[in-house]
Amino acid sequence: MTYDVIVIGSGPGGYSAAVRAGQYGLRTAIIEKDPRLGGTCLLVGCIPTKAFLHTADVWERFLNPAEDGIHCENPRLDMPLVLDRKNKIVSKHSKGVEFLMRKNKVDWIKGRARLAGPGKVEVTSPDGSKQILETQNVVLAMGSEARMIPGLQPDAKRILTNVEILDLTEIPKSMGIIGAGAVGVEFASIFHRFGTKVTLFEMLPRIVPLEDEEVSKELERLFKKTGIRVETGARAENIQRFDDHVEFSVTLANGKQEQVQVETLLIAVGRKANTDNCGLEGTKVQFERGFIKVDEYQRTGEPGVYAIGDIVFGTPLLAHVATAEGMIAIGHIAGKPVSPIKKNHIPNATYTEPGIGSVGLTEAQARAEGRKVKVGKFPFLANSKATILGRHDGFVKIVSDENYGEILGVHIIGPEAFELISEGVLALEAEATVETLMHTIHAHPTLYEAVGEAFNAVQGLAINA
Ligand SMILES: Cc1cc2nc3c(=O)[nH]c(=O)nc-3n(C[C@H](O)[C@H](O)[C@H](O)COP(=O)(O)OP(=O)(O)OC[C@H]3O[C@@H](n4cnc5c(N)ncnc54)[C@H](O)[C@@H]3O)c2cc1C
Repeated sequence: MTYDVIVIGSGPGGYSAAVRAGQYGLRTAIIEKDPRLGGTCLLVGCIPTKAFLHTADVWERFLNPAEDGIHCENPRLDMPLVLDRKNKIVSKHSKGVEFLMRKNKVDWIKGRARLAGPGKVEVTSPDGSKQILETQNVVLAMGSEARMIPGLQPDAKRILTNVEILDLTEIPKSMGIIGAGAVGVEFASIFHRFGTKVTLFEMLPRIVPLEDEEVSKELERLFKKTGIRVETGARAENIQRFDDHVEFSVTLANGKQEQVQVETLLIAVGRKANTDNCGLEGTKVQFERGFIKVDEYQRTGEPGVYAIGDIVFGTPLLAHVATAEGMIAIGHIAGKPVSPIKKNHIPNATYTEPGIGSVGLTEAQARAEGRKVKVGKFPFLANSKATILGRHDGFVKIVSDENYGEILGVHIIGPEAFELISEGVLALEAEATVETLMHTIHAHPTLYEAVGEAFNAVQGLAINA
């Protein structure tokens, strides 16, 4: 039997692509080396971290219940229970992905896949046996794993990546985090609120370095205010693991050296594409900095071989990007009309407290493009729903072009910023102008009103600030 499509990897890119292929009536198989379906996102990424973040949000309220008019004696954070809850959420959704495979008549083949020549995929099953499958098209969706500092290996307690940290049964007293991208700051936000003394080290001059500069500054300010130590421009070296702690030296931004001792160290310095031993050597698949190069239809240089998600060069490593790229690849295979990824319309979401949501150009990027930039900003301090929630840190910032009121970017730091950003994404996708958004009616009292006010602020017409 020859498949129409074989998808390698069952993360959000792979499983969504397999579902869509099934919906289009293509004869489809998905190959996964992990015993469970769902990939990084579901098993050790987006979903378990957000389960922890939810617990951190609830726990924070329990620690200051009087702010909500409630007395609550001796609340206790029970880490085994927190893990159990997280594991149940992950299992439920992994089973959900299994169901989707059955529903869409996708064959789930367990094992590690590699390309074995044109139209051939070799699968090594968990028992070591091998089989060759034939297919018209292959979608590579092998995802990524944590990049380690050379010479270091993670373990269950001291030196951790996003995988081990999700199974800690006790809350560490202290934690160092190297790397302040989305993964580093989210774990900082979780464990600081769980009661761990957290220090965040970032080599670049600012945390969340891909966000608008003002957003980075605001998150750093708020992290410091709540007691997270943040060191930017800091380089950690000579990491040594001991039975009960980790030690390393840090060169701080001012040039001073410091010897740091922590109970656990999280390495969050980026991701590495899972492309080793996949039979790509000797094919026409091309790489850039370890990631696979694709065209606008997700085609690699090898005929009939597509690539999507974290293994792809040039698009952000995000679950929704992986899914969108899967839709494009399968649409192209099935001969359906597809709309290639518009990089400027991809939402970024960081689920710290306060959260971050952004889309489009930062102010600095817009200026660098030579745009006549006009900015509107509105603080959550002046939003009544934020006050009701007791979460009034942060702001909404609109970056627009003065000429025609074109919306160039929307940057939000504040409560539910990752939900609110969808208005900005839709505005960009629909090519709405600042004027359209100024006239859009936002329900009261909502956090969304802050978005509407920020659009009015572009013209100096915000009402409440
Ligand atoms: C801690 C953390 C939190 C994150 N939070 C978010 C978030 O909130 N929102 C967001 O959008 N993104 C988030 N991400 C990023 C997100 O997880 C990834 O962008 C997403 O999982 C990429 O999906 P993918 O389908 O490309 O690959 P993956 O999800 O990495 O899945 C790849 C799959 O391929 C399998 N595989 C690899 N090689 C083979 C092989 N040779 N044969 C068979 N199977 C193979 C792997 O076992 C894996 O199951 C987070 C990442 C981390 C680490």
